[in-house]
Amino acid sequence: MSNFKGHLTGGLIISSINTLTFTYLYDIKTGIITGGTALLFSLYPDMDIKSHSQRIVTAILTALIIYFLYNNYNATYTAFVGFLIIMPMLGKHRGYNHSIINGFMLCLIWLGILSAFFTINLDTDYIYNIALLSGYWTHLILDRHWKIL
Ligand SMILES: [Zn+2]
Repeated sequence: MSNFKGHLTGGLIISSINTLTFTYLYDIKTGIITGGTALLFSLYPDMDIKSHSQRIVTAILTALIIYFLYNNYNATYTAFVGFLIIMPMLGKHRGYNHSIINGFMLCLIWLGILSAFFTINLDTDYIYNIALLSGYWTHLILDRHWKIL
């Protein structure tokens, strides 16, 4: 079990690894997006309880909703982000939002959100899934709470 500082530290470490790796393999833009994804989703599992992580992640995702609304994006993107905010609050703490399988579902939603900014090619853009799962699973490892479902 880890607290907010532990998860933030773990998130910053895995974020740095993603940023350096994908900047080296691709470019700085890709490195920043993958690093940000890993950090965001290293805090995401604790969205299912009132916490620092919940406030920070909700603020970031709400800013994304405002950006989409202000720039007249398709409502689908806003719905994807809203789903990310609401979904964890429907379950109990350390329920499905702390499960290995949930990480894969989040990958699909996150790719949908990223497709607002650039064309997603599922054959080559699996790196965003790697970034998300590395951050998300870092949280689960730090919690030492591995659940399949
Ligand atoms: Zn947790």
